[in-house]
Amino acid sequence: MPLPLVAVVGRPNVGKSTFVNRIAQADEAIVHEMRGVTRDRSYHEADWNGVEFKLVDTGGIEMGDDDAFQGSIRNQALAGANEADVIIFLVDGKTGINADDEEVARILRRTKKPVFLAVNKMDTPNRDDELWEFYQLGLGDPWPVSATHGHGTGDLLDALVEELRRVELSEENDEDDGINVAIIGRPNAGKSSLTNRLTQNERSIVSDVAGTTRDAIDTHITHNGQRYTIVDTAGLRRKSQIDEDVEYYGFVRAMRAIDRADVALLVIDSTLGLTDQDQRVAGFAAERGCAMVIVLNKWDLVEGPEAKAEIRERIADRLMFVGYAPIIAISALTGKKVDRIWEAIDEAYENFNRTIPTNKLNTWLAEIRESGHTVTKGKVILRMKYVTQTATRPPQFTFFANRPDVVTDNFERFLENRLRESFDLVGTPIKLKFKKKD
Ligand code: GDP
Ligand code: GDP
Repeated sequence: MPLPLVAVVGRPNVGKSTFVNRIAQADEAIVHEMRGVTRDRSYHEADWNGVEFKLVDTGGIEMGDDDAFQGSIRNQALAGANEADVIIFLVDGKTGINADDEEVARILRRTKKPVFLAVNKMDTPNRDDELWEFYQLGLGDPWPVSATHGHGTGDLLDALVEELRRVELSEENDEDDGINVAIIGRPNAGKSSLTNRLTQNERSIVSDVAGTTRDAIDTHITHNGQRYTIVDTAGLRRKSQIDEDVEYYGFVRAMRAIDRADVALLVIDSTLGLTDQDQRVAGFAAERGCAMVIVLNKWDLVEGPEAKAEIRERIADRLMFVGYAPIIAISALTGKKVDRIWEAIDEAYENFNRTIPTNKLNTWLAEIRESGHTVTKGKVILRMKYVTQTATRPPQFTFFANRPDVVTDNFERFLENRLRESFDLVGTPIKLKFKKKD
């Protein structure tokens, strides 16, 4: 297998060559001068904690005349994004952000590849309070490093290597399998019936999950042009030993499926209501940050509008902590309303991947500030200065404030509710972080 490729991109003079030379550990490095098309980059081999990878220094791209400077930065970023497995975007901590950095960031935000934003020339450690302006680039938490002194490069490489492992795993496991949907819920809730309904009219390929514990069946299908992998955690239950603790193994399977899922479909037997296990599984999915749709199955057995309203209310009440999940009543037996599940999955998945522009978020924050909502503790008043989205899948928002330590759970809930009111985020959990900025 070829070594994973890490591209280092950034405008001239931010310290790319210095950075690459430090990581490629000169005495061990073999510098490949590739001929021909790739003359403008140098490839270096590197190793961190036993994980080998190749570094591409895109710094050598020559500047042409006139406007070619902008063009070359863009090409560099695009080339990096296309050929690399992971991208390190280097910016200059001394000079701060300029228009070229913003241009590169715009390109990199669109790639699906993991991007590490490294702020170089941070020669004095522990000056993280100087980092906040780099959040504006919308590429997540910045990593302070000093290519000349070596500060911070170890932490960055630890995270990078972890990401390379993840990339390798995901390439092995799901080569563009589309939206990964886990069907979870207690035994007999109707998971298999629902899986059959969802897949019966579609061209589908069934594959067992790799490994010795065959605890789920993956079905790959295309519905209305969108690819899905439906993971049915009930599939092989009947083959397992009868005296196994069915509830317990069901739970373990559900957890494993949730780990791989983009969207979890929690199937509930309407005639029985919510079990403790349902609640536990829902809590686990929320913690793992996957999107969720709640399916009230066997709705054909519930009679009369009062009973229906009561069941809905009770379940919504006990699943309040995943209040963002839409609740859809269906019958897997008759097929009634099953179609609505597709729309709910698509919407939850879209929101799970949503990016809200920083300027919209800050207009929203200004409104909250004007409304006077804040937290006080003794003489301390929380002042929120700036907010930006720092991750997707699920969306994560980082707030910069004078005293993040006084933020309460209540206030966090208030902010989450307001975010959800202002920006449609149905179906996905969201995460909030608070950082200090004076
Ligand atoms: P490139 O054009 O992006 O490849 O940048 P270079 O690696 O050639 O570095 C440009 C300049 O920045 C050189 O003078 C380096 O010595 C300097 N430089 C690189 N990294 C650091 C650093 O961490 N701290 C400081 N103070 N200077 C650095
Ligand atoms: P699983 O253990 O969660 O996979 O559940 P199954 O799909 O095997 O369903 C358990 C039982 O419930 C079977 O007898 C199904 O026929 C029945 N069932 C599933 N969905 C419905 C439904 O919507 N309405 C009714 N009345 N029965 C259903």
